[in-house]
Amino acid sequence: MDLKKINYLILLSMAVLFYSCSKEVKQDATKPFYELQKNNYVPKFDGNNAYAQVESQVKFGPRNPGSKGHQAALNYIQSELKKYTGSVELQNFTYAGYDSATLQLTNIIAKFNPEKKNRIMFFAHWDTRPRAEHATKAALKDKPILGANDGASGCGVLLELARILKDNKINYGVDLVFLDGEDYGKEHDLNNFCLGSKYFAANYPAD
Ligand SMILES: [Zn+2]
Repeated sequence: MDLKKINYLILLSMAVLFYSCSKEVKQDATKPFYELQKNNYVPKFDGNNAYAQVESQVKFGPRNPGSKGHQAALNYIQSELKKYTGSVELQNFTYAGYDSATLQLTNIIAKFNPEKKNRIMFFAHWDTRPRAEHATKAALKDKPILGANDGASGCGVLLELARILKDNKINYGVDLVFLDGEDYGKEHDLNNFCLGSKYFAANYPAD
């Protein structure tokens, strides 16, 4: 993440903090939440919606690359995002995995206010770990995990944010980025982690 983007994040955090600490917010069209401030309204993040989104993903089973659940979750997240924005982009890429496997991986990028130059990004990974090294039962150690927390929960939060962003106009662009292949690596084999974020960073179009 470059310094410019970090500045935007700090600006957003400050705007939220300022808003929540003071009732007399000055109207300023350059602030990200100007439209919301005008109406003195903070949209509600619905935890039940986010939880339901976690459940929907977990129902597909493990979502490690190459699994049935992986394909099902890819379709699901895309179709959910299309309810909330007309700008859903896919970054498809392949990766040479363990045992000569070729992984088909996809980052999903949902853009809100795609025309805005000032943008804020939120990331979560949607893939789940292909093996449960820390399982107490030895027989489970090489089995994929269900990933309710590690995988589905972050995506549940972003999907609920997508709903909120559709219904509430803000002055900034927002990108919700669902990364793939983040948790593929064997324990301590860091080169095989964060595949989606490395691809995203290397292929993000310069402005
Ligand atoms: Zn993870």
